[in-house]
Amino acid sequence: MPAPLRTLLYPLLLPGGALFLATALLLHGGGARHWLAHPLASLALPLVAGSGALLAWRFHRSRLVLGLVLVCAAELILRRVTGTSAAAYTHAGVAVLLPLNLALMNLLPERGLITLRGLGRLGLLAAQPAAAVWWYLRDPALALRGLEHRWVDLPALGPGDLPQAAAAAFAAAAAVLALRCLRRPSALDAGFLWALVACLAGLLHPSATIRSVYFSGAAVILVAGLVEAFHFLAFRDELTGLPARRALNEALARTGGPYTLAMVDVDHFKKVNDRHGHDVGDQVLKMLATRLAAVSGGGRAYRYGGEEFTVLFPRKSLQEALPHLQRVREQIAAEPFRLRRFLRPLRKPNRPRKGVAAVHSLRVTVSIGAAEKGARHPSAEAVLQAADKALYKAKRGGRNQVRG
Ligand code: GH3
Ligand code: MG
Ligand code: MG
Repeated sequence: MPAPLRTLLYPLLLPGGALFLATALLLHGGGARHWLAHPLASLALPLVAGSGALLAWRFHRSRLVLGLVLVCAAELILRRVTGTSAAAYTHAGVAVLLPLNLALMNLLPERGLITLRGLGRLGLLAAQPAAAVWWYLRDPALALRGLEHRWVDLPALGPGDLPQAAAAAFAAAAAVLALRCLRRPSALDAGFLWALVACLAGLLHPSATIRSVYFSGAAVILVAGLVEAFHFLAFRDELTGLPARRALNEALARTGGPYTLAMVDVDHFKKVNDRHGHDVGDQVLKMLATRLAAVSGGGRAYRYGGEEFTVLFPRKSLQEALPHLQRVREQIAAEPFRLRRFLRPLRKPNRPRKGVAAVHSLRVTVSIGAAEKGARHPSAEAVLQAADKALYKAKRGGRNQVRG
């Protein structure tokens, strides 16, 4: 799969999509239904949402705290309200307000919870059920008719069905959340989208038990999105999207058998920054990362730091890895890097920035030093040192070359 598609699809589908699918399979597979009816099963949602909210609060993600409060409160309200007319009104009201609030909580900028804005958001969530009760008590029949009004003649959505206002609210919220995910793929934001889907599936189902499990699934999806997003922050490099040095250290500790490790360093990269500016330098590093990630022979690329990368070939000897390293070096040297349009000035500037030249594309080369784990270099530190020495030789030898 091409790397840009992978960076879009992975956070979009994992873990949210997979967890939603697991919830649906659990419910509709049949085997799990009897224990879902157990009274203790109703504790699942408050437990997941409560511990998830604590975790999110600890990580300063108040949007997620509010999302979890919202899902949990919606399910508790649905469970508590009884009586045919009141229950139908509550179901329709939750179905309209939940998606809109979930999208709103996701869109609002991150602010501390115990601040004026944070408390204001909590107040906004609390005010809605109060306003809904007030509206209902004034004239129950009118309130219910208002929510269930059919604007257009359409067939029912499913066995539980939803009022058209709720269907429109879900569609609008899904469009907003999906657009946000497409613009900037993140597991946390994708979690909101999949939680929305899980809540929709729950509200469409006539059984209260199944609805409750879908809502618990929504809470698990939100929390898993947070964990995944923080895993990404800890182990991925923000600029290039490659696994970072911490991920390399873990991979080296895990890889028991022989392996080959290559240190890759951009040649004269300081000049690229000096001549074309830091933004162009960043663009080049990103494109270089994409090419290194596509190295053949099962090599895995990491950003080691600055303009240095590493490529790890598990279970490969130095002799086996060298041809793949040569090929990627040749490709980098042969194909110029085409810069994104916004980095090129549209018109010739009247007064160009001093010393910074505008470019459409530029060539860079890399030097590579590689070493294998074995009798000579028995530890990860020794392999890294040997690869660094080989890199130094490649630089001294004239750059744009591989040494092992
Ligand atoms: P050599 O061929 O000997 O490796 O020369 P060099 O200029 O690449 O080596 P040097 O280590 O002196 O310079 C590395 C430069 O990389 C300096 C630093 O400004 C730049 N750099 C490091 N990290 C980044 C980054 O994230 N973005 C950009 N744009 N530049 C970076
Ligand atoms: Mg360097
Ligand atoms: Mg360099």
